[in-house]
Amino acid sequence: MPMNTTNFPIESLRAESTPFYYYDLHLLDATLDKMKESSSFPGFHIHYAVKANSNPEILKRIAASGIGADTVSLGEIRAAIAAGFPAAKIVFAGVGKTDEEIAAAIEYEIGCFNAESDEEVGVIEEIAKSLGKKAPVALRINPEIDAHTHHYITTGLAENKFGIAMSLMPDVVEHCVNSEWIEFKGFHFHIGSQITDMTPYRILCEKINILQEEYPDLAIPTINVGGGLGIDYDNPEDHPIPDFDEFFNIFKNNLHLRPSQQLHFELGRALVAQCGTLITRVTFVKKGVNKQFVIVDGGMNALLRPALYQAHHKIENITSESEKTEVYDVAGPICESSDVFGENVQLPVTHRGDLIAIRSAGAYGEAMASSYNSRPIPASKFSR
Ligand code: PLP
Repeated sequence: MPMNTTNFPIESLRAESTPFYYYDLHLLDATLDKMKESSSFPGFHIHYAVKANSNPEILKRIAASGIGADTVSLGEIRAAIAAGFPAAKIVFAGVGKTDEEIAAAIEYEIGCFNAESDEEVGVIEEIAKSLGKKAPVALRINPEIDAHTHHYITTGLAENKFGIAMSLMPDVVEHCVNSEWIEFKGFHFHIGSQITDMTPYRILCEKINILQEEYPDLAIPTINVGGGLGIDYDNPEDHPIPDFDEFFNIFKNNLHLRPSQQLHFELGRALVAQCGTLITRVTFVKKGVNKQFVIVDGGMNALLRPALYQAHHKIENITSESEKTEVYDVAGPICESSDVFGENVQLPVTHRGDLIAIRSAGAYGEAMASSYNSRPIPASKFSR
């Protein structure tokens, strides 16, 4: 029996040229439906973090669900608009927005800039003035919370490049509220990614409550708590949809929103990771001295996460007929020692030509693919 723990249409996948991303659009829809149901509290609004996956089909599907988009470049703003997200539901974050990007975002009349420094606020103000249009700006505050995730994807600590330090914040708030060309929208936070323990989010709520108490007279129309909700990379079939109820209830129960204040979220991974799989083909099964390697035709150019931050993805051989298993290191063809998808992976006895599924690859997979070693960017296929 092939070890096909999901419902991959193996025969049609076998006919495709590899590597490619395979997206289960039914799971994407079910995830969006559950997310909407779990977040249906007054004032709660979700923005999809486009950086997680900007495949046009995926973007269109998400735009059609009615949520907004969180972007970090002009390219993402354009992709979001092309996919059908209304400009008013687009927020624009990022520590290094260029003048061109700022001007274009003002012209598009996006919903909000999430500004990350006083200097940036000054530049947005200057460009808004030159265009004769007021710019909506929220301030990204660094709440100094350890999200207990990988150090490359934790973003809310004092030494991170992101956000405005709490101690520097009062002056930047003053700058915004006194500016003729800025409409102050509120505060933005994002403490990290792949967060599965809800404690850091509860602490974030407490910090925001204190912050709001410190500014009783300041109008703060919006609080944006960013994204970061993690997924189960070990057991994607047991947890295809993250626990959105637990996540949104943390905010519902701990954050003291003011009357008619809006609460924004920016979820990326939680919405798209589980619906995507990298399908790659075994080129060789190579015997080493103490190990054996399954060499596949997709490498870190197709899926960078393991090489970039030691990310773990479940790996399956979806075509082997063998009842017996063996232990392999699964590696790509790229000329880098870090081009390894998994070490000591137990797989059914694997042969040249078998299809390997690298699961939970819908977020930060295709979006980070490159043509390193002059290899093509993987194609994308969809379940319909
Ligand atoms: N918002 C901001 C500001 C981010 O930097 C990120 C990710 O880096 C996200 C949202 C989305 O994070 P996630 O995909 O973990 O939900």
